Amino acid sequence: MAFESLANRLQNAFDKLRGRGKIDETVVNEAMREVRLALLEADVNFKVVKDFVARVKERAVGQDVMKSLTPGQMVIKIVNEELVELMGGSVAQLTMAHRPPTVIMMAGLQGAGKTTTTGKLAKYLQKQNRKPLLVAGDIYRPAAIKQLQVLGEQLGVPVFTLGDQVSPVEIARQAIDHAKTNHLDVVLIDTAGRLHIDEALMDELKQIREVTKPDEILLVVDAMTGQDAVNVAESFNSQLELTGVVLTKLDGDTRGGAALSVKAVTGKPIKFAAMGEKLDALEAFHPDRMASRILG
Ligand code: GDP
Repeated sequence: MAFESLANRLQNAFDKLRGRGKIDETVVNEAMREVRLALLEADVNFKVVKDFVARVKERAVGQDVMKSLTPGQMVIKIVNEELVELMGGSVAQLTMAHRPPTVIMMAGLQGAGKTTTTGKLAKYLQKQNRKPLLVAGDIYRPAAIKQLQVLGEQLGVPVFTLGDQVSPVEIARQAIDHAKTNHLDVVLIDTAGRLHIDEALMDELKQIREVTKPDEILLVVDAMTGQDAVNVAESFNSQLELTGVVLTKLDGDTRGGAALSVKAVTGKPIKFAAMGEKLDALEAFHPDRMASRILG
């Protein structure tokens, strides 16, 4: 299960605080040394760990322990609150256009789960009584259009495609007109994924952004790739100005580093978490629930 080893390590760190009467600096330092190692082992960004530990220490040392809590519980409470903050504090909502259709551009490297997530998001929106349109903008991966069509069929959601001979920019432009004419209120554009970030990919994404003026640019990253996911997010964000991140494969045995670092490093919130291959395996990302999972 994801976060299992991080949860165990943190539990060990907090066990050392058991039976202590007072939160003094030595006690906090000892516990935080363990927490620091646990976070680094979970592949959390080095700078993020450093700042996190410093913040917890500052808050914990010399703090009067609430009567109802032991010092250990008090430190756990602070760590919990800071973990929630680190991951964005509260749930980050999708921005919807005042005048439909809302345009959501999906970006990501190949294999991150972008196309699957686009389908999941369509389902999520359907449940909110929205009428999504899926747009097949990945014309380079041979199976991508078909994959989206299959997803659309499963969901009963229309799929807009112009095949693989028309530029994705033109496809996106026409898709928005199609949505307007057919009263579809959310346009989900699946874009090309590549194995690596390259200039051609970024240029195409920028052009699609230019033409569609998206309300959301969501980057889909694979949580299993840890620091790499964070680096990918950082470089997409610097070029595209993302509005949010979707973390996939949180059902796998990810160590958790991406979930804990992405917001701090990019400044952009994690909006959704994908936890499986099925179409309903997508949830709004709740920092508080994730922190509870991490703390076991
Ligand atoms: P794309 O190249 O980014 O469009 O990636 P796909 O959407 O084709 O997904 C790549 C693989 O990852 C597929 O086998 C998906 O079923 C799988 N996948 C996507 N999201 C998740 C997830 O949240 N959990 C798991 N376990 N697998 C996922």
